[in-house]
Order: sequence, then structure tokens, then C-alpha cells
Amino acid sequence: MSDAPIRVTVWNEFIHERTVASTREIYPEGIHAVLAAALRERLGSAVEVRTATLDEPEHGLSAAVLAQTDVLTWWGHKAHDRVSDAVVDRVQRRVLEGMGLLMLHSGHTSKIFRRLMGTSCMLRWREAAERERIWIVDPSHPIADGLEGEFFEIPHTEMYGEYFDIPRPDEVIFISWYEGGEVFRSGCTFRRGKGKVFYFSPGHETFPIYHDANVRRIIANAVCWAAPCGSRYFGDGRRIEAPLSPIAAKHAVDESLHRKK
Ligand code: ZN
Repeated sequence: MSDAPIRVTVWNEFIHERTVASTREIYPEGIHAVLAAALRERLGSAVEVRTATLDEPEHGLSAAVLAQTDVLTWWGHKAHDRVSDAVVDRVQRRVLEGMGLLMLHSGHTSKIFRRLMGTSCMLRWREAAERERIWIVDPSHPIADGLEGEFFEIPHTEMYGEYFDIPRPDEVIFISWYEGGEVFRSGCTFRRGKGKVFYFSPGHETFPIYHDANVRRIIANAVCWAAPCGSRYFGDGRRIEAPLSPIAAKHAVDESLHRKK
């Protein structure tokens, strides 16, 4: 990885904070401001963080902004349908090119997450301020770096339970248990193209979950994990005409099979 800072765009729908008193109390400047502060606090000069919200032109996700984004974090709930398809196309393209994506809480039914997963992404839920115990089931994963113990707890949460209709994840890092008895794959990773995607469920807007030190650590770890890395990619498929060494077989190519009809 290069030494250049990871360029992070923290995207938020930013509706509840302006319309729901209990959310405004917890996040007076918006969930995006709290997440951006958490990343700056934990990662310092290793990140450059900007924020973007739904009501900005192009939802704050112009082609220029996305071209300069290494990792995009997404929080949305009420207005998934207001996100324009053009922006969804653009975000998907950037993920396939290598941009990391952190999908938080109710983003499971956002257009972009469903597009990338190809399934309904539905789950069961209950808002009863119950306890959530988040078990670390992949303790050596970089997203779990620095967490103490085998689990941590959030005292009041919204329950998200199985069955969660996602494709089989590449990795499951966290499994949540709830006071009401349900369980949930609360931290999962996926690869799409050259991009890395992390879904993390805690973060309901009427509880101060993004002020929790463990949650902030996980999100910061996930930004580092999702940042583009690896070897240079040489672009689209290419026809190789000259073999590196002689090929013994004599083969007549039927060019008509390769041409568009
Ligand atoms: Zn919620």
C-alpha cells in the first residue's frame, strides 16, 4: 500500500437527524459528522475524510468526488428510493474498479447494496432497545484488530435477525446475539470486482451506537481493510496474438466465431 492518505467519503441520508428529536439529540450535526470525527480521531493523518449527503447535487457523489474516493461509507434508511439510478451506477462502477464500500446498518436495503449483492438483502427486525452481544468469530481478521475479549455488547440496539438474504459472504467476522433470542451475521465481507465491501449492522439512529468505542474502532479498521491495494490491473480483456513460446498444435481459427453477429 502507498503512504498516501486513504481518501474516505462518508455518505449519509441525513433525514432523521433533522426530523426526529431523539436522533437529533444523539447526532446534532448528523451521523456523517460523528463517523467522520471517529475516523479522524482513530486514523489521524492516515485518512482524508470528506462527507456527502442525499440533498446535495448528485447526492454529493459526483464523478469527480468518486474518482477521488478510496473508501465510501454509506448510511441510509428512509429514502433509499430517492437515490438516483445514475449515482448507483457510478458507485457500482467505482466498486468494481477497486473502491472500498462500507455499508452500515439499514443500508442493507439500499439500491447500491442490493445491486452489488443481487439478492433482496431482507432480514427480520424489532426495535425494543434490547441488548446485543457481538461475538468476534474471526479474531485474526484486520477488521477485528484491537478488540478486547471474545465479544462486546451494545446495551440498547435495534434487533436485526436471520434469515438475512445475502449471498454467502466471503468472510463472517461478527455474529450478534440479541436479548430477544435472534442471531445475525452482523459483520460480513464480500469482493465485487476489485472492490472490497463490508456490511456492519449496528447503528440504529435512536441509540448512540456510533459513539461506542468498539464500533468506532471496527469502522476505522474496515476503512483500512477496504482501501484499494494490490497489483496494477492492466485493463479489459486483450487478444494475445504472439505466444511466449511456440505452440505445437496446428489450429485454424474460425474468426467468424469471435465476431459479433
Ligand atoms: Zn434502524
